[in-house]
Amino acid sequence: MFNVKSAYCLMQNLYEPISIDSDLLEALLTMWKNDIPSKVGVFGWRLLLDKLPTRAALASKGILSNPHDLPCVFCFQAVETSHHLFFSCGKAIDLWKQVFTWMGVEASLQVGGRHHFTFFGSLVKSKKGGKVKHLIWLATTWCLWRLRNNIVFRGDFADFSGLLDQIKFVSWLWFSGRAGRKSGYLYHNWCMNPLCCFQSI
Ligand SMILES: [Zn+2]
Repeated sequence: MFNVKSAYCLMQNLYEPISIDSDLLEALLTMWKNDIPSKVGVFGWRLLLDKLPTRAALASKGILSNPHDLPCVFCFQAVETSHHLFFSCGKAIDLWKQVFTWMGVEASLQVGGRHHFTFFGSLVKSKKGGKVKHLIWLATTWCLWRLRNNIVFRGDFADFSGLLDQIKFVSWLWFSGRAGRKSGYLYHNWCMNPLCCFQSI
């Protein structure tokens, strides 16, 4: 009789185990602890493993072959890799600066991927840290990815003007609906000082 466990065991027997470096494994485990919708968890998991279907990834699988399809749709200055799109694109760097300013922290990161993720977690102090440490990191990357997809699939403009407000709102929905629902803080407080809201739980 089929059950999930039997399918899991079958797949384990079919494929060679992949070894993951210990830092990455720790980042993945930390990411899953956050109180986020499961689809965002899957997105974060794919981002940390560099498994998102970026244009560079699709080209490496032979799905995209025209070099004109490869540039980043935010800046058109570089091939769209995961690292570029989320961490080294000028548009992404500007967005991270806005996020750090909103959080009231001074940070200038030259790294990407799990190093960026791990550093970001060190900025958030809370008793329930594991549940909220990366809410804003995940909201930022999630909103960037949605904007990118809306540009690619719906022909939207690369409009970054409302993105920080989206990040504030999305992360507030996750915070107030789960780990922070008893914090007593309002959306207004969240917009003023999210780290204070984290410390309250
Ligand atoms: Zn770019």
